[in-house]
Amino acid sequence: MAVPSHPLSRQRRLVPLFAVAGVVVLLLAAVVTLAVTLTFSSFATAVRPAGIFVPTEADGLIAADTPLTVDDDTHPALQRLDPALLEALRSAQVAAEADGIRFDITSGWRSVDLQRRLLADAVRTYGSEELAREYVATPETSSHVTGRAVDIGTLDAQLWIMEHGREWGLCQTYANERWHFERATEPGGECPVQKLDARG
Ligand SMILES: [Zn+2]
Repeated sequence: MAVPSHPLSRQRRLVPLFAVAGVVVLLLAAVVTLAVTLTFSSFATAVRPAGIFVPTEADGLIAADTPLTVDDDTHPALQRLDPALLEALRSAQVAAEADGIRFDITSGWRSVDLQRRLLADAVRTYGSEELAREYVATPETSSHVTGRAVDIGTLDAQLWIMEHGREWGLCQTYANERWHFERATEPGGECPVQKLDARG
């Protein structure tokens, strides 16, 4: 004859049940997480057209929110600069620091691929290659690609270099780009007449 189950033995049977239920819930959560991750990553792959170039630090890309200082000696954007330009910038920075000015380098050397990408982005922004070319040179003509130009991020530093830069041979070379500097004369020399824009 069956003995009515004691409340304690029911509890003992319930404990493993709860444990099994817990494991099932965890497994379900893992499966759902995996499914969501896969869905989103395949979505990202699907919306990114094949063959689009994504520039990295190795191309000289400097993150917009973390400009470099002239003392950086690990980033390719500075490592691959013309040594005479880098030396001029470092010497000028020492003098500028006395005026409380820091040069934020937002762009230096760029790979051909990065330059091509910037031009393509500018064409999209300005609506035509003709307009884009006023601001972004081709890989063949860009002085960033040859390591002979830097872009400086803040207005006070730009104005400081415009005023004092030629003591180190540093000149603004495009009239429409107050951030773009090259070593365009000998230290103490006169800066050349500015070109109108990046079309040269
Ligand atoms: Zn530039």
